[in-house]
Amino acid sequence: MTRLLSPTRKLYWADAYRRRFTARVVERREGRRPAVALNRTLFYPTGGGQPHDTGRLGEARVLDVVEENGVIYHILDADPGHADELAGEIDWPRRWDHMQQHSGQHLLSAAFLTLLDRPTIGFHLSPDSVTIDLPGPPPDAQDAARVLDFVQAVMAEDRPIHSYQVDEEDIDAIPLRKKPAVSGRVRVVEIENLDWSACGGTHVRSTAQIGSLIITRLERRGANTRVHFLCGGRAHRDHRRRLDVTRRLMDILTTGLEDLPAAVEQRRDEALNVQKKLRRLEKRLMELEAAALLTQAKPIGRARFVERRVMSDDANAMQKLMRGLLAHENVVALLSWQGGQTRWSLGHSLGSDLDLRQLMPALRDIPGVRGGGGPDLIQGVAADQETIQQIKSHLLAWLAEAETSFHF
Ligand SMILES: [Zn+2]
Repeated sequence: MTRLLSPTRKLYWADAYRRRFTARVVERREGRRPAVALNRTLFYPTGGGQPHDTGRLGEARVLDVVEENGVIYHILDADPGHADELAGEIDWPRRWDHMQQHSGQHLLSAAFLTLLDRPTIGFHLSPDSVTIDLPGPPPDAQDAARVLDFVQAVMAEDRPIHSYQVDEEDIDAIPLRKKPAVSGRVRVVEIENLDWSACGGTHVRSTAQIGSLIITRLERRGANTRVHFLCGGRAHRDHRRRLDVTRRLMDILTTGLEDLPAAVEQRRDEALNVQKKLRRLEKRLMELEAAALLTQAKPIGRARFVERRVMSDDANAMQKLMRGLLAHENVVALLSWQGGQTRWSLGHSLGSDLDLRQLMPALRDIPGVRGGGGPDLIQGVAADQETIQQIKSHLLAWLAEAETSFHF
């Protein structure tokens, strides 16, 4: 028979700033990750959008904290020993961060409701993001600015944040932002005379301790909006990071903050124009190179045969030159390019009688040669430049034969 434990006393409700405590062990669970329940605790269990605390209990590290029917279990990395009483200490920087983000969330939700009549329908807090969800599309920049001005003003007022228990029958007297999901006694967190929330979380003493609050992104999610925001230390670190980045950009572009977008836009347009010009010049260069190559072409029947090893850092140079060559009539061209491996390309502009794919079976018999393509152009890889010469021999023999059959 399972013994029913009384609910764990939540010391973090009485004082969210307390870091150390001692408590009596009321249950132990063995296993790879041992767990203990205590008669009272400062460790906040995951719930209400706020993640659990971590810290130490005896000699063990607290990895996770979960609540089951009012009993809080501390999941540990090691057995805490057999002592009846354990001393605990929470990881304060983590808790303080959660308090700043959670109180900031209450204030931001109150601002969206008060100014824009937008209720909060979701709250998420994790090490790398804090968000609330609102119904409807993202507010425009002006409305978002009004919300932030409101938040800033309430933080400057240093309004106290209280928490207290209210009996179920008295709850209607409290103007809660949202009806509580649980029945029975309700814990209310109040930003004095501004916002009343049914909430079990840990909060800072007053709005000034939220430190600062910034909205980093308004994300449309289906019919709703996800507001990404940061409070306190997180907002401060984010602010510093953005300052560093903008300062570096200002140095690189030698411009002031306000002129930064225009300066970037100007550089982008310039780069696009240069790219366009470069492409035109490359095309022209290939045309000239193709024309120069054709003056040295070897006649085979009416065909003009061109062979060339392409020297370029540009992997597409071979294709560009091939296009330049095949723009002329009666050309047969064999090009190769040495990058990581030897590539070859074989094309002709002799008309529809000639199908280069007929050559492929013979070429595939040469060790190291792979490839394929269409009637006018085949390409692939080869072992080395010697192999390219073997491809050339096959091509010339095949061309001589084709000349007799087709009289080109
Ligand atoms: Zn809350």
